[in-house]
Amino acid sequence: MLPLPTGWSPGRANSSKRSSETGFNRHRWNVVRFKKKEQLPEDTRRYTFSLPPDTKKLGLGTCQHLQLGFHFSDRLVVRPYTPRRPVFGREEDGKFELIVKTYAPDQYQPDGTMSNILDCLRPREEIEVKGPIGEIKYIGQGKFMIDEKEYHFLDVSLVLSGSGITPGYQLISRILRAKDQGKGEDKTNINVIDANKTEGDILLKDELDRFAKDNPDQSNITHVLSHTDDKWSGEKGHVSKEIPQKHLDLRKEMWRCFAVLRL
Ligand SMILES: Cc1cc2nc3c(=O)[nH]c(=O)nc-3n(C[C@H](O)[C@H](O)[C@H](O)COP(=O)(O)OP(=O)(O)OC[C@H]3O[C@@H](n4cnc5c(N)ncnc54)[C@H](O)[C@@H]3O)c2cc1C
Repeated sequence: MLPLPTGWSPGRANSSKRSSETGFNRHRWNVVRFKKKEQLPEDTRRYTFSLPPDTKKLGLGTCQHLQLGFHFSDRLVVRPYTPRRPVFGREEDGKFELIVKTYAPDQYQPDGTMSNILDCLRPREEIEVKGPIGEIKYIGQGKFMIDEKEYHFLDVSLVLSGSGITPGYQLISRILRAKDQGKGEDKTNINVIDANKTEGDILLKDELDRFAKDNPDQSNITHVLSHTDDKWSGEKGHVSKEIPQKHLDLRKEMWRCFAVLRL
């Protein structure tokens, strides 16, 4: 674990008056408390945060994200994150979870700022959050609100990479778990191309592969790696136009793609 950065001052900024029962104020900082960290494969961690006592719900729409803010004495660091949980209203339990890859320094680059701040948090320390943010929201049963207009899709294809999988994960989880969560079966088809450097870099791989395995008629996930070893039997290289042509049904008239490139 790295030492806490100098200038660490939990809860330093003016936080909003936490009056909301339903969610955060998206225009002002809200203070949340770090609860626990779990080590996932490679350099990925799962972080759990508690909402303020008077905020009952995170209130994010599916595919929306939060801004995390950390005040050093002389600057504010802000990064976006998409929670892994809650996805459904019934999972709102006063907490939220982030899956975050920690960027370690090497001979070519310094460490990642926010991911190392998170890695250094101790239970009950505070960090600031704003949200919900994002103009794409999945409502269910193939319906999206995009810039406040409603769209309906029977098939959704996503081309994602690195930590850009997290908004996609929310969508996949929302579609494929709808029935178990009392929302009625969601028959939207979902196909994903997920590009990473190495197999260890694939965030949420086990959960994604399980979704695809349990729902073979409705979902498919193709991992593409740029750095492989001999054991890797999947797609190799970068996402050229051949990979979507091979793994997505591009004959369909409409498709949308979210992409956060971080390879
Ligand atoms: C909508 C959205 C949702 C996201 N959700 C998630 C999520 O759920 N989980 C997640 O892990 N990430 C997510 N991200 C990415 C996240 O916001 C951060 O970009 C990521 O955590 C890295 O932030 P950092 O401050 O740790 O690294 P940064 O400080 O931003 O650095 C990033 C990389 O750049 C390198 N670097 C920094 N400075 C230099 C320099 N001067 N020269 C050369 N290299 C440098 C670092 O070594 C590191 O590899 C999301 C991004 C978006 C846009």
